[in-house]
Order: sequence, then structure tokens, then C-alpha cells
Amino acid sequence: MKSQILAKIKEIFFDPYRIVEIKENLEGQLVLGGTIYLGLRAGGEIGESNLCHEMAHLAEIDRERVFSQGWGLKNGKPIDFGDGTIIYQRTTAQHIDREIRVWAYQLNLHRYFHIDEDASALASSAPYLPDTYLAIDRLPQIKSIQSNNQRNNVFADWVARRIEQQSQIYTFEKFCQQWNGKLGEFKIF
Ligand SMILES: [Zn+2]
Repeated sequence: MKSQILAKIKEIFFDPYRIVEIKENLEGQLVLGGTIYLGLRAGGEIGESNLCHEMAHLAEIDRERVFSQGWGLKNGKPIDFGDGTIIYQRTTAQHIDREIRVWAYQLNLHRYFHIDEDASALASSAPYLPDTYLAIDRLPQIKSIQSNNQRNNVFADWVARRIEQQSQIYTFEKFCQQWNGKLGEFKIF
């Protein structure tokens, strides 16, 4: 993918550092040979906003997890059925809370680089995250809604509003501080 936006992102946030690179065909984050690769892919789609999402994860994550595969994030508590089947059960809404902070950073990156997707677009996948049913408890009014579709929409709207609010805290300036704070020692001079 060749675009002016991508070229600008690369120039500001990737070229100055030795250990972080953009990988077009990658979904998420991959650590290989001491390099952190951030992908442009999400499902079948390739785009700058997916890259911005992974960049936002790097800014949000604890310093010691920057070099952990997949940001060192767990899938939840493992439940072993004893027959070789293990499923992962989410027990807290930490995941969605983290995603909201990540989306807040991502929204500020979108604003800075003039990428169209707004808070509502970012929140549209929120109803389908694995721990959504835990976060949904925070909206008691949602329980009386019968239609699944409508419930998802109300939840996505609530997430979109939280992304907007948190974008005042997780600003572009703070993103830059976090990025450089974590990668600064790998800067090419
Ligand atoms: Zn994420």
C-alpha cells in the first residue's frame, strides 16, 4: 500500500527508530528477531487505521510488554475440560477498557493524519469483543432491550462516547511522549 498518509506515518514514527517496522500483510503485532512489526491488515482489509490501532496499543501498553508477542495480552482465564479442550473465559472487562483507551489514542492519530474513521466507526466492533457481556452490565438500561441488534447499537454508542471523552486524556501529545518514551533508546541518530 502506497499512500501519502502511510508515508507520513512512516516518516514520523518508524524511520527514526531501529526496532519498529510496518508490515503490510500482518494483522496485529509480531516480534521477530528483536524487531516489533506492526501490521496494516485486519481481516480482509488493509489500511492505515489498522496500523494506527497497533501504534496506539504500543503507546498504551506497559513498557515491559512492548516486546511481548501480541503485546503479552491474555485471552482470559483458561478452563480445562480435561479432554484436551481448553477454552478461555473472560472474567473482567479489562479488555474492553483497554481497547477504549487504545481507540482514544487511535482517534487522535486519525485526526492528526486526516483518516476518516471517527469514534462511532471505531466503536462499531465493540459489541463483538469477547468480554462485551461483562461491560454491558455497566449499562443497566440495556438489559431491558429485547432486540440484539438494538442492544449492540446502544452499547456501541456508549463506547463511542467514552472514546470521545478519553481522547481528551489520551491526546496526540501524550501518544508521542509514550511512543518516544518506549522507543527513544532505539532512536537512530
Ligand atoms: Zn486492540
